[in-house]
Amino acid sequence: MALKLFNTLTRSVQEFQPLEGNRVGMYCCGPTVYDFAHIGNWRTFVFADLVRRTLEFSGYAVQHVMNITDVEDKIIKRVREQQCTLREFTGKFEAAFLDDLKALGCREPHQKPRATEHIAEIIALIEKLVARGVAYKAADGSVYFSIEKYRGCGCTYGQLLKLNLDEMRAGDRVASDEYEKESLADFALWKARVPDDGAVFWSSPFGEGRPGWHIECSAMSIKALGETFDLHLGGEDLKFPHHEDEIAQSEGATGRPFVKHWLHGAHLLVEGKKMSKSLGNYFTLRDLMTKGFTGREVRFLLLSAHYRETFNFTLDGLAGARTSLARIDECVGKLREAAGSAARPSVQAAPPAGSANLVTRFTAALEDDVNISGAWAAVFDWVRETNKALADNSLSAGGAATALAAWEQVDSVLGIGGKAEAEIPAAIQALAAARATAKQAKDFKRSDAIRDELKALGWVIEDTPKGPRLKRL
Ligand code: AMP
Ligand code: ZN
Repeated sequence: MALKLFNTLTRSVQEFQPLEGNRVGMYCCGPTVYDFAHIGNWRTFVFADLVRRTLEFSGYAVQHVMNITDVEDKIIKRVREQQCTLREFTGKFEAAFLDDLKALGCREPHQKPRATEHIAEIIALIEKLVARGVAYKAADGSVYFSIEKYRGCGCTYGQLLKLNLDEMRAGDRVASDEYEKESLADFALWKARVPDDGAVFWSSPFGEGRPGWHIECSAMSIKALGETFDLHLGGEDLKFPHHEDEIAQSEGATGRPFVKHWLHGAHLLVEGKKMSKSLGNYFTLRDLMTKGFTGREVRFLLLSAHYRETFNFTLDGLAGARTSLARIDECVGKLREAAGSAARPSVQAAPPAGSANLVTRFTAALEDDVNISGAWAAVFDWVRETNKALADNSLSAGGAATALAAWEQVDSVLGIGGKAEAEIPAAIQALAAARATAKQAKDFKRSDAIRDELKALGWVIEDTPKGPRLKRL
């Protein structure tokens, strides 16, 4: 079967066909680095990671680009409030974002272009739009995109969602980076310098100023992936105006189709409500880590629902993620022991009944528009059948190694396995090492005391034939 994905452009699930061979250019709108990313943002970035891993699993060579929006309205406002330089301000949130991305087990994008380092490309793109007659300088000194002129060239504004363009009044303009459907109007490509911008401005043929948010993504994606590329992703809130404007700017400048396939992830709610600081239901990854959860647990939970369904995030759900991961870890840990030195899968050795099926079922689910629930069902059926075979002692070392190889294959997409040890805090690992030393020295009083100390900290230590193993209580 071939990979099928929903395409917002055609509003249908269709076979994914890259423009060229097995190479896929994929652009995901990155973070606006004005604060720590929240758990809703993380749903979208983990979704992008899942799509990239699914493509790689399907044999595609992906070029994953994720921009860093490091100049836009919200950033300028905070730079002004905090009286620091743009880079001082955005640098710390960009670093935090990349740390969190790693903690969530996401593969690092191949390119992470910053908007402030693409001002020349942005200006060149605006110049093209002006030259083609679809952009104009207004009396306020800013340059706007003319929807009327664009449509006059036979281009479609409103490719991702239906817009009521008849209600639009020619000449209406919107200067802010984010606006509602009701404010459908010409939007700013270059914003003329105003006193509130402080030191954040660049010179350009249109005068001093700064780019609008939408043109940044058009310029960076075209530079990284070409005028037409395969796949563009983002959260559903970006369809309008951001992605619609990206299409208009890019197609308006190049005269070619911008993106073949658009994918949008649905939003995340917390305890059934839109996240907001005033409701107290607003979490960053760091907030959840302070509560004792790990990036791996958050990743698991974010990966539990289909990307086109709204996901209701709860702290109970996160606790449930811990339990589910423990089931997988226990099974994989036992398989490792059973495989022993038979590290290589053996063709002759019979794997547990479900393993033969695991990769087939998992692959079929992913190819069906990334049906993650079907993929998890395959995993948990496999865990149950493997546990049964382990309990019956019906698994040879070669069979266990074959089962492990199947797990590792599916985990190249899930990205949750094999991290158990890495996530054991250093202090806990040090205690376990001290206990091993005490045991070796036959100081059982001390080794028992350390065991109790570990227990009080929420960890049990199990002595196995392969040595001690730490597990969360
Ligand atoms: P921003 O940093 O605000 O530009 O947002 C980064 C990404 O997070 C975008 O793709 C947004 O669509 C996405 N996003 C924002 N809020 C949510 C949410 N509640 N659930 C899922 N994705 C979100
Ligand atoms: Zn974008």
